[in-house]
Amino acid sequence: MTVGSSARRLMAMIFPTVPAAWQADFETFQRQLARRIAVVAALAILILLPAFQFIDYVIYESQDDLHLHNALWRLPVSLAALGILFLRWKQPDGAWPRPLLLLMAFALMTMMVGIFANDKVFQGGPADYTSQGLIITIAAVSMAATRGLRDIPVIYGLPFLSLPFLLIHNGVALSSVTTHLVYPAAMLVVACIVVELIYHSNIRSFMANQQLKESAMTDPLTGLLNRRAMSKELTTAHARSLRHEVRYAIIMADLDRFKRVNDAHGHDVGDQVLVELGNRLTTSLRREDRVSRWGGEEFLMLVQDTDESASLEVAEKIRKAVEEAPFPTSAGPLPITLSLGLALNSERDTTETVIIRADKALYQAKQNGRNRVELAE
Ligand code: GH3
Ligand code: MG
Ligand code: MG
Repeated sequence: MTVGSSARRLMAMIFPTVPAAWQADFETFQRQLARRIAVVAALAILILLPAFQFIDYVIYESQDDLHLHNALWRLPVSLAALGILFLRWKQPDGAWPRPLLLLMAFALMTMMVGIFANDKVFQGGPADYTSQGLIITIAAVSMAATRGLRDIPVIYGLPFLSLPFLLIHNGVALSSVTTHLVYPAAMLVVACIVVELIYHSNIRSFMANQQLKESAMTDPLTGLLNRRAMSKELTTAHARSLRHEVRYAIIMADLDRFKRVNDAHGHDVGDQVLVELGNRLTTSLRREDRVSRWGGEEFLMLVQDTDESASLEVAEKIRKAVEEAPFPTSAGPLPITLSLGLALNSERDTTETVIIRADKALYQAKQNGRNRVELAE
């Protein structure tokens, strides 16, 4: 192993990337995470900002202008927080969490910068206190940012760049505030690192979760969906069929005289046949259709948006794909055939009754001599 490749592996461990196939799931994960963070942050803001406004009154009772200005800086943040809680209540699953979280974070940074600039104007304003507030805000906002460094310019860029202009506008000499900005600036550097680390730890926990989910859904031998995953697919297809008035078909397939393969060549060769069958079934179907290993050598397929003649054609295509070429195995090429039972759903069906009818049709196919397709009544 070269130094370059170990360095790359180390980088991949620290900064994992999400495979393309999981991108859509990752988007959902990020959205849900952003929603949770947004709601907690919004609640915290709606409790803390009035509290700070109150503390301001207690400390600087007489400075009405200061109170008004600070209240105005606090207003957009509070509105963004209210917006988040409102949407959480009205539309829990939308695309709003991330944009609103960013907006709230941006408003929060702008508020801190604005209050900092104010405090320097109103003599006796506690620059130390707001400078510390700025540090805490940067830390809190970094925690909320869930997409790494790319959020930084949005959240911190504009507020920080506008700070000198605000100070000059308020008649404050920049040299008089440098000490109060050193710590927030240092915190900003730390925040960039924290944001990136949080983002990648999110990716890692997503990937670990996703791997678990996938292994709970696939059959380890063939890599096809397992029975539990297929049951879920069937439930979805059934609901969809009722909603859109389309039909789906279930094909139940069982290898012919498979016991003989096992007996003659051993269980391992039998397993090779199952794997090869899985490949042939998958390539015989469209992308939107589903194949599962339903039991030992029984496979259940779901054909979406179909009718009797189209699904019969599919079943026949599968039968031929198995029959037409012998299966390559370590015991040499083996001739294999498959029996199939086909059933389409109707309005009166549940997924269970369609499966039962497909099973009966399969039994008929076996009775009628194997290597054939039977359609359920
Ligand atoms: P037919 O279906 O045509 O009636 O005959 P068959 O010989 O296939 O009969 P049956 O369905 O009763 O036999 C199923 C056989 O499948 C028995 C079992 O040993 C074998 N089998 C089930 N699961 C596996 C598996 O995971 N690997 C292997 N190698 N064999 C399996
Ligand atoms: Mg069987
Ligand atoms: Mg069999």
